[in-house]
Amino acid sequence: MPLEVLERGVLHERGRRQVEEPGGDDAATPPDLGDLGDIFGGIFGGGGGRARTRASRQPMRGNDVEAQVHLSFEDSLRGAEAKVPVELTVACSECGGTGAQPGTAPVICPECNGRGVTSESQGLFALSQPCPRCRGNGTVIEQPCAKCKGSGRERRLRTYTVKIKPGVKDGTKIRLKGKGEAGAHGGPNGDLIVVTRVAKSDTYERRGDDLIVQVPVSFPTAALGGKVEVPTPEGAVSLKIPAGSEDGKLIRIKGRGAPRLTGKGKGDVLARVRIQVPKRVNKKERELLEELQKGVV
Ligand SMILES: [Zn+2]
Ligand SMILES: [Zn+2]
Repeated sequence: MPLEVLERGVLHERGRRQVEEPGGDDAATPPDLGDLGDIFGGIFGGGGGRARTRASRQPMRGNDVEAQVHLSFEDSLRGAEAKVPVELTVACSECGGTGAQPGTAPVICPECNGRGVTSESQGLFALSQPCPRCRGNGTVIEQPCAKCKGSGRERRLRTYTVKIKPGVKDGTKIRLKGKGEAGAHGGPNGDLIVVTRVAKSDTYERRGDDLIVQVPVSFPTAALGGKVEVPTPEGAVSLKIPAGSEDGKLIRIKGRGAPRLTGKGKGDVLARVRIQVPKRVNKKERELLEELQKGVV
């Protein structure tokens, strides 16, 4: 493979020396002005052709690929290992990306003799264009690879195993360097971006790294104070309800929330007091409530 690249470079150099046209000042044209070259290619000749030729061989980074991974709420808190299937365009496994049938190699384009450009003289100007036969590559494939039909690429389903840190949220993005689409001409691979999709919880509502949980509290407990059981991801805890707690009051249970993705530690559990009003009362309860209503203790 390095031999081929070297060979192409030599061919390219030769082409550069051979194509000369009035008005062309290519030495000063940076290679990344390929588009500009294309625009003026028809008028100024070789500049466009060569700029495009060079652009087509420049190392190109592969595309990033995004994949979603679905997690239960519990797994988002304790971390998980997820299998992520990703469909990627990769170098053809049969020809290694050359596009030529294994055992054969791309040959020097007979149309342009490997220069990648064709030129014709028109009065004062020598017009040159990217070679239509080899599309500026300087080489052509005579026996295309049967598997990829000469494209050098194939779609392949790859399954990555992704370790997901405890504490990810719905929509957290995890970037896996170099696991995206293959680069071209020696360019680096793109990245794989895994987006976590976390199912809603019946128990908790996530707010940052805190978890809000609704805690039913009887009216007497809210009024007089007492203890209630509150679920947390690592088991229920007994929570003291202060006397005179109003409906909606938030009581913080430190360090029982979601693990923080940045650094150590955890968020909190916020217990929201929900005062329960009895739907039915028995005779005794009715009497007591009526006493309370009258303000008689
Ligand atoms: Zn050609
Ligand atoms: Zn192939």
